[in-house]
Amino acid sequence: MTRRDALEALNHFIASCLPLYGDYQDAMKSGEPFLYHAILSPYLNCGLLNAREICVAAELAYRQGQAPLNAVEGFVRQILGWRENVRGIYWLRMPGYAETYALYAHRPLPWFYWSGETQLNCMAQVIAETRAHAYAHHIQRLMITGNFALLAGVEPREIEAWYLAVYADAYYWEELPNTHGMVMFADGGVLASKPYAASGAYIDRMSDIAKGASTTRS
Ligand SMILES: Cc1cc2nc3c(=O)[nH]c(=O)nc-3n(C[C@H](O)[C@H](O)[C@H](O)COP(=O)(O)OP(=O)(O)OC[C@H]3O[C@@H](n4cnc5c(N)ncnc54)[C@H](O)[C@@H]3O)c2cc1C
Repeated sequence: MTRRDALEALNHFIASCLPLYGDYQDAMKSGEPFLYHAILSPYLNCGLLNAREICVAAELAYRQGQAPLNAVEGFVRQILGWRENVRGIYWLRMPGYAETYALYAHRPLPWFYWSGETQLNCMAQVIAETRAHAYAHHIQRLMITGNFALLAGVEPREIEAWYLAVYADAYYWEELPNTHGMVMFADGGVLASKPYAASGAYIDRMSDIAKGASTTRS
């Protein structure tokens, strides 16, 4: 991975994906692991791109009429709103942050997180895509694999170790507040005002993946 690769990825995203980013950023579709997402986090996290230049490139696309406001606003908010917020929480709250257990969850992580062998179709699909690409977009991480871990009462350290192991963009300072705070609510509300817990109705509304039957077995 070089700076040149990073700039190519940024230019590709701005020209081809940003215009539809706002409309589809929360959507999940079978067989479309990337949709209109940026896939820029590995470059950003290792320093080949910086947050400011990405936001400036997106803003320029808006000013030149190449992307609509809802797309550019939504994208810049991910970087400035979420990434920088998560960074601030880590630096302000660590090391004590990782030790909190607000919901007293203690179940072991089910083995199918590693194998993908489960009859839960939405989980099987996201885990298969994760294994294939070391990537899942934010809503898949939060509302599929994260939501299941929250509802099942998985031990925060076990699910944190999983996110850290399986994604190409995983860095502890970024993974920890997302998993410990946003997914597991183990911080008691420092990052989010309430747990991101949802039923199958949410997944049904936001995707086509719950409708088909899983082909793998638990
Ligand atoms: C449980 C969990 C663990 C996560 N672990 C990581 C991690 O280790 N490293 C990581 O970079 N991101 C992490 N994220 C955030 C987010 O899922 C990824 O940044 C995003 O999926 C990267 O893909 P993208 O570049 O296509 O993102 P896009 O959807 O295109 O978003 C653009 C950029 O916004 C930033 N961003 C968006 N949301 C977040 C967020 N919640 N926290 C931090 N940055 C954000 C990323 O830099 C991303 O590249 C995690 C999210 C969850 C729910």
